[in-house]
Amino acid sequence: MPEYYPAFHCIASRCRNTCCAGWEIDIDEESLARYECLPGAFGERVRHSIGLEGTPHYILTEEERCPLLNRDNLCELILREGEGALCQICRDHPRFRNYFSGRVEMGLGLVCEEAARVILSWPRPLRLIRLEGDDAEILTEDERYLLALREEWIASIPDEGPRARLLETLIFRHLPDALYDGRLEKRISFIRRAFAGIVGGWTDGSLSGLIERARSFSDRVEYDDEALERWIEGKEPQMV
Ligand code: SF4
Repeated sequence: MPEYYPAFHCIASRCRNTCCAGWEIDIDEESLARYECLPGAFGERVRHSIGLEGTPHYILTEEERCPLLNRDNLCELILREGEGALCQICRDHPRFRNYFSGRVEMGLGLVCEEAARVILSWPRPLRLIRLEGDDAEILTEDERYLLALREEWIASIPDEGPRARLLETLIFRHLPDALYDGRLEKRISFIRRAFAGIVGGWTDGSLSGLIERARSFSDRVEYDDEALERWIEGKEPQMV
């Protein structure tokens, strides 16, 4: 994981762009089984908040908010049952994983304003730390090549504070996906265009301005499969 990863904590009611609104929240089987056994009136309320057609999910309110998100933007499930009661998606967000044959990397998504703040204000270049496992990773030749390429690219970035953190993050997150589809050149080009698009409109030079541009880009592109595909294929709209 990046060195900054443990510094992230959800800021909950202080968040201006809560991730508990505007997105469909699917519920994994294990969590669903737990919710089926939740006792009392609150258990009933949770079960009434869930739609079972297709993939089980929370039924968003008319304002597209999670039904368990209260007016103070706090999650009722956490308040009453603790963080352990969250479903997998809510526990994970805004984290992501890069999978290799003998290695799993954890990262923070720029879509969350607090994660973006942690990443873009980090005072040092991206450095990965090991959470568990030993040094003798079992990697394929392609994976070794890609990881070496990524390391080389990241090491070549002049340390210019938030701009450098942004480019490092885009490389860290998106380059490994070339292992799944072989589109290495297209992903390199996508990362360059995404970076240029985000910093291109960053006119006020403030950290908060860059955080908002990165967050908005991530929301509209990184978390929208169709938009991401358009960008990778070079068919993105002119403006970010
Ligand atoms: S976007 Fe980030 S800080 Fe805001 S509620 Fe979600 S996880 Fe918390």
